[in-house]
Amino acid sequence: MKDLYADIIVDISQEKLDKTFQYLVPPEMAAQVEAGKRVRIPFGNGGREITGYVIGLSREPKIEVSRIKPILAVEEQGMEIESRLISLAAWIARNYGSTMNQALKTVLPVKEKAAAREKKYICLKADPKVCDSLLEEYVRKHYRAKERLMRALLQKKTLEYSAAVKEMKISREAVKSFEREGLVSIERERDYRTPLPRRISPEEKAVLSEEQQQAVKDILEEWESDAPRPCLIKGVTGSGKTQVYMELISHVLERGRQVILLIPEIALTYQNVSRFYARFGEKVSLIHSRMSQGERYDQFERAKKGEISVMIGPRSALFTPFPELGLILIDEEHEDSYKSEKNPCYHARETAIQRGKAEGAYVVMGSASPSVESYYRAETGIFRLVCLDQRYGGSALPAVSIVDLREELKTGNRSVFSSLLTEKIRERLEKKEQIILFLNRRGYSGFVSCRSCGHVMKCPHCDVSLTSHRNGRLICHYCGYETMDVKQCPVCGSPYIGGFRAGTQQIESLVRKSFPGAKVLRMDADTTRKKDDHEKILSAFGNGEADILIGTQMIVKGHDFPRVTLVGVLAADLSLCSGDYRAGEKTFQLLLQAVGRAGRGRAAGEAVIQTYHPDNYCIQAAAAQDYEWFYQEEMDYRSLMGYPPRAAMAAVRGAGKEEELLNQAMDYCRKYIERIYQGKDLILIGPAPETVAKVQDMYRRVLYMRHQDREVLVRIKNALEKYIEVNRGFRNIYIQFDFNV
Ligand code: ADP
Ligand code: ZN
Ligand code: ZN
Repeated sequence: MKDLYADIIVDISQEKLDKTFQYLVPPEMAAQVEAGKRVRIPFGNGGREITGYVIGLSREPKIEVSRIKPILAVEEQGMEIESRLISLAAWIARNYGSTMNQALKTVLPVKEKAAAREKKYICLKADPKVCDSLLEEYVRKHYRAKERLMRALLQKKTLEYSAAVKEMKISREAVKSFEREGLVSIERERDYRTPLPRRISPEEKAVLSEEQQQAVKDILEEWESDAPRPCLIKGVTGSGKTQVYMELISHVLERGRQVILLIPEIALTYQNVSRFYARFGEKVSLIHSRMSQGERYDQFERAKKGEISVMIGPRSALFTPFPELGLILIDEEHEDSYKSEKNPCYHARETAIQRGKAEGAYVVMGSASPSVESYYRAETGIFRLVCLDQRYGGSALPAVSIVDLREELKTGNRSVFSSLLTEKIRERLEKKEQIILFLNRRGYSGFVSCRSCGHVMKCPHCDVSLTSHRNGRLICHYCGYETMDVKQCPVCGSPYIGGFRAGTQQIESLVRKSFPGAKVLRMDADTTRKKDDHEKILSAFGNGEADILIGTQMIVKGHDFPRVTLVGVLAADLSLCSGDYRAGEKTFQLLLQAVGRAGRGRAAGEAVIQTYHPDNYCIQAAAAQDYEWFYQEEMDYRSLMGYPPRAAMAAVRGAGKEEELLNQAMDYCRKYIERIYQGKDLILIGPAPETVAKVQDMYRRVLYMRHQDREVLVRIKNALEKYIEVNRGFRNIYIQFDFNV
């Protein structure tokens, strides 16, 4: 057999990750060496012995064999956190089809070359008696600056250098002379730029409701079993999942281990995070996407050193280098933002489960409307299901009405507000209660529907909505089916067929016109450009500075506004027709969350859902707030169409500047797959144009693969990767794999 070689990195910093060195794996070490292992190697001309990390293995020497040196030893004792993260990167590269380098850059904390920001302190060292007599002397001699400095030091003992110099108007020279005389010392401390407010009054541990207690008990029981499974908490809106998380966190902290809490970026608000901070104090930190690389690195360093033990953040927080990770919590587990859009297209939920497995950490997910995949796994026993069926404090779930917009049109009402919704808004305004108006534009892709009968133009092969393109054609983004745009409804003949145009801005002006005197706030991509906009609007609304909050999906995520008693969903259907097989699921989830914003305080809540599809099960189940109903119907559809989780599905996404070459390359992919896998159980769809068919002059095409067994798709991906690497037809074409389509 050919010799085995290991690719080794010797320096884990962003610029150096690309730089690997090849070493020979002596046969007696072959069984031990794998991605992530720490090894001792001779390095440089002198052959100095240093430590490196294995990131990959191959049987192909990259340089002349005589120049490849052997590994000296494998370090077995204690897998360090870097080792574990490197093996996680290897798992990501294999499972999501990226290079090891891309995976490493995602997973490892990025070391920055720039010097870390430091804080300096002036610390009093001299005996207080000496100081007192010196102080007298300064007063006598009118040394005003020295007097100020000495007084402050006597009072506080330690002063922050730059603040002291600035606020007390003391020259740096004065401080230096104190230092020379041995009165003070200047101490340095690395400033970790704590992103959290320092002063929040501590929160007492809440008394859990009986149902919450039971949930905690069930989860702990699962943890203590022989083969603990990830837990999925299905808890209705307002059931107090956060309290359950906190209880679990304190359980883990008591055992000296650490916790990662993933929450969607959009829900990463002051209100949410400060609750954890109030309960667990300075052990808590957070990262978010607006932080610089350096700031994130600081947080990761603190985690590594054991200065913090709870990290809150979006999906990238999953890679916090905690030395003894005990628990990964994933709140709102169904959220799209847990999936990376960038290569590697990893899914935080799956990756968390993998990290948990490798490091002996538990994984707990929570949602009011779990993803179909997760619930399917709970149903089949891969996850442990834990339910919270009541709102905390016993408030009722809101009463929901469905309004059929086709009927409104018949009565001549063409406004965006049905008469029922108008009437209810008036009522609330009179009672001084708050209202949320939700315009559901998620994934709105320009589908075409009939306003008279609700008919939506769909692909005859894929049962997803067709998307209207500027060239006057309707296109399916799964299979590429095309047809001419229609001027008349093919079902009822009505000419009112077309796309939906109203945006939040138009809605705002309509609200102002229809309800003069009402105070209105709007939250969408336009009003939340700046860093704190999001926060400001939410807290203004929370403080009662407006009667009506209008917005897109960003207003329905996990916010707790006790004074909201009415939620109006203006266009429930927009996401229902977004042209992908998850459209129904996303619609149900959004509606359930939106509806769940109402009636969280003492007054009962109500919601009105306006739709052209009052009979659709997603809308009906959301109105009934009945997850099981939705799930059963959805699984019937997925089974019928062979969509996940009934089958595994993956996408081969291609991009290129020249359309012809791209089409050719995608055809090669399809033909190659057909050649290497001939079983009838593999279904190939496409290639077709992506939903957004051209971005920055790059054309985009996609080919879907479906099979019962995900592992088959992974193997096809691996083979295809090799084929692409050696085939000249793929020059200037970028191929990316996506296993969470
Ligand atoms: P969910 O995330 O499940 O929708 P939350 O965690 O936001 O629900 O809880 C809803 C409300 O109930 C919050 O205002 C929360 O403070 C309150 N709450 C939940 N459980 C408790 C408890 N055990 N003690 C006191 N308040 C609670
Ligand atoms: Zn029609
Ligand atoms: Zn189709």
